[in-house]
Amino acid sequence: MKLHAFGARGSLPAPSTAGFNTSKYGGNTTCYYLEAGPFQIIIDMGSGARPLGDYLLKKGENGKPFIFLLTHYHSDHIQGIGFCVPFYIKQNTFYIHGFTPEGRENVDPLKNVVLQALEEQQASPYFPVPHGLLPANKRYRAHNRMFSEEFYYVEKAGDFLYKTESDIQDSHSFKRDKIIKVTTVPLHHPNGCLGYRVDYMDSSLAFCTDNEPFAFTNNKINNLCKDVDLIVLDGQYTAEQLAGLTQTFGHGNPELCVDQAIDCNAKRLLITHMDPGHDDKKVTEMEKTCIDYYTKKKSDTLKGVEFVKEGETWEV
Ligand SMILES: [Zn+2]
Ligand SMILES: [Zn+2]
Repeated sequence: MKLHAFGARGSLPAPSTAGFNTSKYGGNTTCYYLEAGPFQIIIDMGSGARPLGDYLLKKGENGKPFIFLLTHYHSDHIQGIGFCVPFYIKQNTFYIHGFTPEGRENVDPLKNVVLQALEEQQASPYFPVPHGLLPANKRYRAHNRMFSEEFYYVEKAGDFLYKTESDIQDSHSFKRDKIIKVTTVPLHHPNGCLGYRVDYMDSSLAFCTDNEPFAFTNNKINNLCKDVDLIVLDGQYTAEQLAGLTQTFGHGNPELCVDQAIDCNAKRLLITHMDPGHDDKKVTEMEKTCIDYYTKKKSDTLKGVEFVKEGETWEV
């Protein structure tokens, strides 16, 4: 698999200005793209979805299906959808996964809660194009935000077919390189959040932002993300910030991410969701503190830690 970062900023975009440089780590909010054999997977569409769309167009990825894993509905994770050109191409298909927001469990089953949440951010007068009118084909699935669920996609004749666990157990006719497994991971965040684990062939990646360390979800992450090759975790604040005013905001700090990555036996750790108030100088300091902490831990399993820089790619 290959992971591309198109946005790693948290909460709000943070463009570079005189005296406040963010060009090293980037200013766009959360958007990642994962290539796994025949599968194209997008994780969140913050403001990084605009450059992601440009990248996909330039690569000629038109008329293709995309699996879109949405962690949650905070604006820094969905604000780029209306600016992502592939949504305006009717030959494209997006298989969009999200969760049922708290209080909407009893919404009319015909009214998909994922679609409803995305329609709301693009409703008049907040955006000129209603989400439902974006020309691409769109299919929505809502998961439970409190429990883990597993699902699969199978590549067939250039499309992706959704499969449940029982579909997969009943059939041995799927070729290994044509099937991908996704596991949802409940996270601790205001209004709820889902992490995702993706397994393809012998490679695995876990993506768990936005999350404030909390016993219940720490254990979930340890169990569901066990032995992953790469884990992406939320290290927005410094330890001092997290002990003070920003407690309960739903984010972590880099040292706690190192502890979590070691606890779940991950091989590599990426820190994401950088604070919009932290310029490159501050994030560089945080990265150094984090690497010092990691080095002192002398972990046998965790082989590396780094902060995400927009535009970078990683082989998984
Ligand atoms: Zn966020
Ligand atoms: Zn959030």
